[in-house]
Amino acid sequence: MLKFEQKLRGNVALGVNPLGCKQEVLNQIEYVKNKGTYQGPKKVLIIGASSSYGLATRISLAFGAGADTIGVSYEKGPKNERSLGTAGWYNNIAFREAAEKEDLIAKNFVQDAFSHESKQEVIEYIKNEFGGKVDLVVYSLASGRRTDPDTGETYTSAIKALGEPVVGPNINMQNQDFYTETLEPATDQEIAGTLKVMGGEDWQLWMEALKEADVLADGVLTTNYSYLGTELNRPYYGGGTLGLAKADCDEKAKTINAFLADINGKAQIVVATAVTTKASSVIPFFPVYCIGLYKVMTEKGTHETPIMHIDRIYRDMVYGTKAEYDEAGRLRPDSWELDSDTQAQTKALIQQLNKENFNTELAAYDILYKEFSILSGFMVDGYIEQDVTIEELKALEY
Ligand code: NAD
Repeated sequence: MLKFEQKLRGNVALGVNPLGCKQEVLNQIEYVKNKGTYQGPKKVLIIGASSSYGLATRISLAFGAGADTIGVSYEKGPKNERSLGTAGWYNNIAFREAAEKEDLIAKNFVQDAFSHESKQEVIEYIKNEFGGKVDLVVYSLASGRRTDPDTGETYTSAIKALGEPVVGPNINMQNQDFYTETLEPATDQEIAGTLKVMGGEDWQLWMEALKEADVLADGVLTTNYSYLGTELNRPYYGGGTLGLAKADCDEKAKTINAFLADINGKAQIVVATAVTTKASSVIPFFPVYCIGLYKVMTEKGTHETPIMHIDRIYRDMVYGTKAEYDEAGRLRPDSWELDSDTQAQTKALIQQLNKENFNTELAAYDILYKEFSILSGFMVDGYIEQDVTIEELKALEY
C-alpha cells in the first residue's frame, strides 16, 4: 500500500496524494453543480488546464455550461513509489473520468504548450475530432521557463522588483517561519526573460495558429488571466517584472483583437483575484499579503477559492449580466479584493504580523496552508483513505 506524504521545499510542494487530488476535483464539480447550469460556450480549449485557475475554468464550463473541453498542460505521471508524478497529472485524469461519465468530451494534451508542434496537434484534433471549431480559448499558463519555438533558446522568468530592492516579510510554509526577505531588482536579462515567459507572446502565437487553421468559430472569445493587485503588493508585483509581463498581455490583447475582428472575435483580459496556487505561493511576500487579505475577506464573506472565483467570472460576468470592466476594457472580478475597506483592513492587519503571531487567529495562515495543501491532494474535504498500488496509478491513462 502506498503512503502519501506531504513534503515541502520552501513553498514548493514535493509530495502528492493522487486520491486526494481526485476527491478535490469531485468537490469542485459538486460546487459547480450545486449552482445549477448556465448558458455558455460548447467547445472550449484551455491552455494551462491542470490546476488552479485553468482547472477551475474547465470544471465550471464543463459542469456548469455543458462544454466539451480540450486541456493542455505540462505534468508528470508516476514512475515508482518515490516518484508519483504531479498533482496536475491526476487532476487531468479525474476531470476526464468525471466529464466522460456525463458524455462530455474531455481531451488532455500533456505536453509543452510553447512549442509549434503542440499547437499543430491541438489544431488537428479540433479539425478531426472536436467538431472543427472552438468558441472559447482560455489562456491560463504559469511557468518559470519557456523555450522559444523559433530559435530554440530557453528563457527563465524572475519574480523581481524594478530599480530598487524590496525588503519585507515573507512566509516559509516548510518551516512555518515568518522572516524578512530582500528582493533584489531585476537585471535587464531577467526583465527580458520574464516578458518572454509570462508575457503575451505565446498567447498571440496560439491565437494566430488557431485563426490561420480556421478552427475559431465566428464570435470566438479568448480570455487571459491577469493580476494587478494594489499598493500593498505593487513594489514586487505590479511594479515588478510580473507587472511588466501582465502589461505585455494587455498589449497583445489589442493585437489579437485586431486580427479577430473579421470573425467578430474578442480577446479579453480578466483581472483575477489573489488566490493560493502553485504559482502564487512562490511570489516573495505574497503569502503575507494573502493571510491578511483572506482573514479580512473571510470575515466579510467575500473570500473565494479558484473554483468560486472562476465560476462567478463565467456564470455571472462573461456569460451573465454582472460584468464589470475598467477603462482599459479589462474584466474586473477582482473588485472584491480591491474594495477600499478590505484593503485598509488588510494593510492594518499585515502591519501587525510578526514571527510570533502570523500563525494565530489574528490572520489566516490556516486558510493559506489548507488551500496550499489541497493543491497536492492533502487536507481535502471528504477524502477517505484508500489502498492503492503504484501499478494501479501507473495504469491510469490521461
Ligand atoms: P498554476 O501553476 O496553478 O497553473 C499553471 C498551468 O500551466 C498548469 O496547468 C500547468 O501544467 C500549465 N503549464 C505550465 N507550463 C506549461 C507548458 N510549458 N506547457 C503546457 N502547460 C504548462 O497557475 P495559476 O496560478 O492558476 O496561474 C494561471 C494564470 O492566472 C497566470 O497567468 C497567473 O498569472 C494568473 N493569475 C493568478 C493569480 C493568483 O493569485 N494565483 C491571480 C490572478 C491571475
